[in-house]
Amino acid sequence: MTARILDGKSIAMTIRGEIQQAVTAFIAESGVQPCLAAILVGDDPGSQVYVRNKEIACEKAGMKSRLTRLPGSTSQSDLLALIAELNKDPSVHGILVQLPLPDQIDTRVILDAVSPSKDVDAFAPENVGLISQGRPRFLPCTPHGVMQILGRSGIDVIGKHCVVVGRSDIVGKPMAMMLAQKSGPLGKSNANATVTLVHSNTPDIATWTRQADILIVAIGKPRFITADMVSPGTVVIDVGINRDGDKIVGDVDYEGLQEVASAITPVPGGVGPLTIAMLLANTLAAAKQSKSTSH
Ligand code: NAP
Repeated sequence: MTARILDGKSIAMTIRGEIQQAVTAFIAESGVQPCLAAILVGDDPGSQVYVRNKEIACEKAGMKSRLTRLPGSTSQSDLLALIAELNKDPSVHGILVQLPLPDQIDTRVILDAVSPSKDVDAFAPENVGLISQGRPRFLPCTPHGVMQILGRSGIDVIGKHCVVVGRSDIVGKPMAMMLAQKSGPLGKSNANATVTLVHSNTPDIATWTRQADILIVAIGKPRFITADMVSPGTVVIDVGINRDGDKIVGDVDYEGLQEVASAITPVPGGVGPLTIAMLLANTLAAAKQSKSTSH
């Protein structure tokens, strides 16, 4: 068997085209241009690239982007003051704090300070609660991207056994929660899975991964999932982004799994491009929600 390649890059381009059209329509109707404010603390090279890519994507979609760069020595109180200002500014619809933050800053305190109505990463406890209750304000960008890849590739989730490897607040946990909902971003078939969530304390992970119809891996360990851990015909979604020398590789052994899986996302060019597309979707949603509550 040679797996079908799920081309995240092309799916993301389609979604970004749809968002661009929706932004144009929203501006024409409301006179408001959606705006994402990004905050970058320090000079981590990876973070600089991520923030720059998000800025470019916003501009291409017809949205405003506003970047505040702060030195790595910034205090927690100065960062909180900036967030308070952005929370109050009606021309800012989404706020993104690029992670990781320097050690003197408590990330949880900072993320909690972002107004839930501008929390386009969907990290705020209130927004996580709404997702869990199946009435999301914003969907978390990476798990939402995975649902879009599946749905737009014609892969139904309903009734399938989905095994999620990794339980981070950013990927694994919200992923499991979305898969188990009664309705997904693309409807009923894009949800209603039977979900198993495994992590570093799960003994013999392969026992679970071999039972998956759909396997979603987000652990940050290069090529961790090997062909012997997966049953023939499994759909494999690799969220991992790891540096291996001068190569970027995922959490699954892509070459090995291609012979076993029925479909697989590449790294790079799989889930990554969707994350930015879904951030744009949330920024537009935030602008629309702010407009509808300002009447
Ligand atoms: P994280 O916060 O480090 O969480 C990793 C999770 O994997 C933890 O729950 C950990 O378990 C689990 N884990 C670690 N080693 C394991 C093992 N040997 N077996 C089973 N579970 C294991 O990472 P993250 O933020 O979720 O990111 C995961 C990967 O996705 C990284 O490579 C990251 O770069 C990538 N990522 C990609 C995107 C994208 O846009 N494509 C977005 C976000 C993240 P414990 O909880 O027990 O420690």
